[in-house]
Amino acid sequence: MSVQNRLIVSITVVFSVAFGAFLLATRGLPTSIQNEVDAELQRLAQGIVRQAELQRPFALTNLRWPDDTPLYTQAAHFFVVLDPDGAVVTASSNLPERSQPLDAASLGLEPVFTTRIVQGQSVRIMTVPIIGQFEAGAVLTGYLQIGRVVNDLAYYNRYTWTLIFIGGATLSLIMFFITKLVPATLRPLFNIIAVASQISSADDLSRRIPVSGDDELAQLARAVNQLLERLERIFRTQQQLLADVSHELRTPLTAIRGNVDLMRRLKTADPESLDAIEQEGARMARLVDDLLTLARAEVGGLPIRHDLVNLDTVFLNVYEQLSVIRTPVRVVLQEVAPVRVLGDADRLKQLMLNLMTNAVKYTNPGGMVVVGLKQVDGRAVITVRDTGIGISAEDLPRVFDRFYRVNKARSRERGGAGLGLAIAKSIALAHGGDIRVESQVGVGSVFTVELPVLDAAGLGPA
Ligand code: ADP
Repeated sequence: MSVQNRLIVSITVVFSVAFGAFLLATRGLPTSIQNEVDAELQRLAQGIVRQAELQRPFALTNLRWPDDTPLYTQAAHFFVVLDPDGAVVTASSNLPERSQPLDAASLGLEPVFTTRIVQGQSVRIMTVPIIGQFEAGAVLTGYLQIGRVVNDLAYYNRYTWTLIFIGGATLSLIMFFITKLVPATLRPLFNIIAVASQISSADDLSRRIPVSGDDELAQLARAVNQLLERLERIFRTQQQLLADVSHELRTPLTAIRGNVDLMRRLKTADPESLDAIEQEGARMARLVDDLLTLARAEVGGLPIRHDLVNLDTVFLNVYEQLSVIRTPVRVVLQEVAPVRVLGDADRLKQLMLNLMTNAVKYTNPGGMVVVGLKQVDGRAVITVRDTGIGISAEDLPRVFDRFYRVNKARSRERGGAGLGLAIAKSIALAHGGDIRVESQVGVGSVFTVELPVLDAAGLGPA
């Protein structure tokens, strides 16, 4: 059974049981009140008869009853004594018509309860035969009739029907609204089901659940939408990555095959072709290494060591490595402050090398690269500034993306696959730091890396 039907059925059952209990109570109440009235009448009758029996000789006129208010309508009880023929012998003074029996039709040998209208009032009457004990034996001597006004009971009887009718109408109304309300309340759930099945049948992760309001179901729909968004992003990135990797690998592989073909045709180990094969092989090895690093960075963060690293030493090391390469670009050391960080010296070196080689790569001959390391407000700040070609505002937000190259032909020609900055960023993030860039086309770029430094005692980040 569906959740919706289960809800409707359970609510219906609960209301019906409640209504049934209400019905029983309503219908049962007049009967139990009447039973109580009857019991009281019986108690009174027994008392009166027993008291009369104690007197000898027994006579109907000996019957005595408790005093009651003289007003018939307000009296709790009134009494009539009849002879065996049904003629009134005596009656209580609070009866307006004292010559008539209360209930002439109920004279018999067994006590009888009846309800009749007497003088315009609804009266519960008990008729008790009085058996006198004489020497000759037990003889029917007369009857005692005790009455009690039970107008309230009559009213109550009438009102119970009204109550039952109102209860039934309310129940029907509730059932009607439940059958309308439950599906309306569950509609967001049906939307989720519909979208989920659309996604699986059409393989389309771009679909979203329509959301309105802020109840639990709306929150669920929002959470599912967020999940879908994330899944879609991951899925797209994976597809893009696969396309990019295949593309990047195809170029060196084509070059290698071309050179092998050439050598086969020349029937000689052409040194130039061998160099090209070696270079392309090295490029592929770099690419695969970089991809591995990025893959690790994405699955739970880049694994890094947490050693005490003298950042200035690593920085100078990279600077020297760059200085020995002959380039038409001047690399200038601006300042180097002694800064210690907690991290992975090899990864930090890779970060700085990527930034500095990029600066040299994307600066035209005669240009300048200025590098520096300082400490500002408990952060190590590495700056790599160049007077190079710059990056347009449009490309700037994407340069840290994997495989993103501003000018593909030019970048490739300069040896890049578009992974260097993505790696630099994941290394900075893994060290609790960050990386940012400012640039202007034709003027140059400034890459800034900030890392948390260790305090003076070397016990933790300052
Ligand atoms: P690549 O290996 O292609 O250099 P990177 O991830 O290191 O890849 O850089 C991404 C792109 O950002 C490069 O293709 C280049 O267009 C641009 N870029 C990076 N550094 C600089 C810089 N210093 N000046 C100008 N453009 C840069």
